[in-house]
Amino acid sequence: MTLPPFRYHPDPIRSGSVVPSDAVCDRCGQARGYVYDGPVYVEDDEPTLCPWCIADGSAHEELDATFVDAEAFPDGTPQAAIEEITERTPGYSAWQEEHWPACCGDATAYIAPVGIAKIRKEYRQLEGFILNHIIYNMGISGGAATRLLQSLDRAKGPTAFVFRCPKCETHHFHVDRC
Ligand SMILES: [Zn+2]
Ligand SMILES: [Zn+2]
Repeated sequence: MTLPPFRYHPDPIRSGSVVPSDAVCDRCGQARGYVYDGPVYVEDDEPTLCPWCIADGSAHEELDATFVDAEAFPDGTPQAAIEEITERTPGYSAWQEEHWPACCGDATAYIAPVGIAKIRKEYRQLEGFILNHIIYNMGISGGAATRLLQSLDRAKGPTAFVFRCPKCETHHFHVDRC
């Protein structure tokens, strides 16, 4: 079964925001093989949702649920992109707060949470960019920056959340500590 396409979160299975499961979706009442495993902002208890009910907007419309904090977006992010991401796109679990970077006049696409082991194995070319992000965007320098880079851990945090601009293909990062 192929998941519905999410422009701003192209592979939610790889990122871990959608997981294989036999659970029944609280919106459509079907067990479709996958459920969403990220934050749901709702009044009541967090529902179990399948990715199809997120993609078609029905989970947002019927349950008034959103999946990404509306405060996560930098100034200048187009309103249409913010709505598509908060209302119809699987989010991701940060430790403190979510950030969703923008680039080239649009929101970026979320790729995956990574720790240093995964960076060195699968995203080696990103190591220097993440270090630059820690130094220049987070204002951490010297040995502390290197130590933060080396302590990145997908499961325990601090974690680097990787985004990519679909237009210029630049990577963007959000490093969040628990
Ligand atoms: Zn559903
Ligand atoms: Zn760009």
